[in-house]
Amino acid sequence: MAGNITFTMIKPDAVKAGNIGNVLAMVNNAGFRIKAMKYTKLSAEKAGEFYAVHKERPFYGELVEFMSSGPIVAAVLEKDNAVEDYRKLIGATNPAEAADGTIRKLYATSIGENAVHGADSDENALIEANFHFAGTEMF
Ligand code: GDP
Repeated sequence: MAGNITFTMIKPDAVKAGNIGNVLAMVNNAGFRIKAMKYTKLSAEKAGEFYAVHKERPFYGELVEFMSSGPIVAAVLEKDNAVEDYRKLIGATNPAEAADGTIRKLYATSIGENAVHGADSDENALIEANFHFAGTEMF
């Protein structure tokens, strides 16, 4: 059965461009409930740990540098079928390939600086939520 939480980050590019409010409005309008949220900045060490699964990829260094370059919004979102529905809302990794009306189509500028993160499985959603939030910070 599909889980009911996902984990997201509004990445430094979207924060810098002033799109926190626009992204959150789309999240709300799509029926997600905010279970946890914080405005924070990842150290390079934390960003490296979060994206450790991509360590061997050629873009890993660039990704870690970008994700620690400025503040982000981290959030846990709740909805039936949250992971799949949120991936649909954000669109393809590369904004050039993202469907019309998706967050990445509207606000991402490149495959690297692509506005938002969305967990790719129920298992990772839980791991990522617990990476950023204590149990007492989720409601
Ligand atoms: P996602 O699940 O759609 O976020 O995509 P992936 O798990 O494949 O990649 C994680 C993140 O790494 C992406 O969201 C991008 O920020 C970054 N990334 C992926 N591919 C590339 C690339 O070819 N170049 C760069 N610079 N960053 C990339």
